[in-house]
Amino acid sequence: MKKIIKRIQNAFKPREQLTDEVVLKFLKVLDNARAEEMSCGDLFMQLDEFVEREVNSKDAEKLMPLIHEHLDLCSECSDEYEALLAVLENTRE
Ligand SMILES: [Zn+2]
Repeated sequence: MKKIIKRIQNAFKPREQLTDEVVLKFLKVLDNARAEEMSCGDLFMQLDEFVEREVNSKDAEKLMPLIHEHLDLCSECSDEYEALLAVLENTRE
């Protein structure tokens, strides 16, 4: 970890010296980007389909694993998903 921080600090050397805090924040952003295999925008375009499959019990998790994974990691999209699911379930009744 320290090594990576040092390397990033070196990479930014022409500019200002970065504090550890800034570098750690930067690493965290990179980590999040890697963890989410699809962007929130990508997910959004397929969320309708995912929720519809879920409501129709068509194994949405297996058919669209990336979406399921993203929903696990991203609280924003997961909120959106819950809301959409609630709407769909209500309209069915
Ligand atoms: Zn998201």
